[in-house]
Amino acid sequence: MKAIYPGTFDPISLGHLNILEKAARIFDEVILGVADYTAKENYFSLSERVDMCQKSCQHLENVRVISYKGLVVDFAKEQDCKLLIRGLRAVSDFEYELSLALHNVKLSAYIETMFLVPSLRYMYLSSSMIRQLAELNADLKDFVPTAVIEAFQQKMHRST
Ligand code: ADP
Repeated sequence: MKAIYPGTFDPISLGHLNILEKAARIFDEVILGVADYTAKENYFSLSERVDMCQKSCQHLENVRVISYKGLVVDFAKEQDCKLLIRGLRAVSDFEYELSLALHNVKLSAYIETMFLVPSLRYMYLSSSMIRQLAELNADLKDFVPTAVIEAFQQKMHRST
């Protein structure tokens, strides 16, 4: 069975990667779907986000990284996929994730959402906190894959 793990991945964190690795063990094929449109302004461009995701999941043979524009349910139909994976860190994620899943059910009765919880040591990781820490030159090695550390360094180098 095929599943899509969609998100902004701005940037991909070790928490995202943990969910992706779990999904890759369960499903025959997993597509990491990198959203072009997002309600928030992104720090990294779409091509930067895709590049970091690709570099970070090279060890996962049954994972492909694909960017998409528009609705995730349309992307899922295009990919002939009936299942979306989302990660749940804490109760605070639940309300938003439930609302998103219910809207997606309304948009397409054909697509289901399944939630996975990360391993405990990744529960606290959030991309927005990681972006703030990067701005303050924190050591990010416990938070993100190496490719993301390099991308932050390049971006900051360019803006100085
Ligand atoms: P969004 O698509 O809402 O912008 P993200 O791209 O940040 O969200 O994340 C995609 C999915 O990964 C969401 O379901 C989010 O809850 C989940 N996620 C984010 N960080 C973690 C983490 N540390 N552990 C597990 N799941 C996570």
